Amino acid sequence: MNIINFINRFPDESSCVEFIRQKRGQAGIVCKRCDCTKHYWLANKKSFQCSSCSFRTSIKSGTVMENSNLPIRTWLLAMTFITATKKGFSASELQRQLGMKRYEPVFRMYHKLRKVMGKRDDIYRLEDMVEYDEAFVGQATKSPNKLKRGRGSQKRSIVAVMAESTVLEDLETGKSDKSCRYFKMKKIKNLEAKTAQNLVREFIDPNSVLQTDMSTTFSDLSDCIDVHVKEISGTEKGHFNLKWVHIAISNLKKHLQTYHMISERMMQNYLDEFCYKLNRRYFGQKLFDRLIIAAIYPYWHDCG
Ligand SMILES: [Zn+2]
Repeated sequence: MNIINFINRFPDESSCVEFIRQKRGQAGIVCKRCDCTKHYWLANKKSFQCSSCSFRTSIKSGTVMENSNLPIRTWLLAMTFITATKKGFSASELQRQLGMKRYEPVFRMYHKLRKVMGKRDDIYRLEDMVEYDEAFVGQATKSPNKLKRGRGSQKRSIVAVMAESTVLEDLETGKSDKSCRYFKMKKIKNLEAKTAQNLVREFIDPNSVLQTDMSTTFSDLSDCIDVHVKEISGTEKGHFNLKWVHIAISNLKKHLQTYHMISERMMQNYLDEFCYKLNRRYFGQKLFDRLIIAAIYPYWHDCG
């Protein structure tokens, strides 16, 4: 969605409220107190009222906007900007585009949106053939002595990168190549075998063929996955290489340069936005509507 579409579609706050009301109504509201699904709309309270026990669910409750005082229109406009580009916005650039006086609410809003992107992607496991590698990302500080301590300190983070990657063979030439589908990126604390085992268990289907390098991190994955192949990059066939994770890591590093500074604490959020957009790279203009679903129903399984 571009800015002209946005202005036409959402001319004021009430059009935004109506839009969210409809979206929530389509999927159904469940009363937190009695599980009843029949609700009335109270326009002046911007709330759904349970038909059996009268419990009220505000329009923002249970969504990414819960506990936020910002108008819904500001949220929708932020989502428009964020989904309009494959690159990331810095929070100060987003603040400027939104015309907001204070930086802090924009910063918090953006990180909440990144979190729901991550939650959405966490619903899915990778399957078939999966490449897995680890990388150090984030800007290295020039002098270790100048590394700021405490909040906002910056050092390089270790990131585990996983990619679904399928071998395609050209029937005429017999040459093979690999095509990629979905990616996952997770900040990890260390390169220990246990860490890799936990990630594989959580995010990769056990029936997959897992491809890694020869690192000791991946020395014992037999309990987590059926087939584990160590990289044989020099072979003629070249089926088992880490082509797509290496491309993704290189693109991630370029992407993170957009940001002036990323604290280690927030790193996963940046990874989540990068991965969310990467996994939906062919969605184009539909990305806005997808993000709306993620923002309203962080745990709803039906739609990607
Ligand atoms: Zn109720």
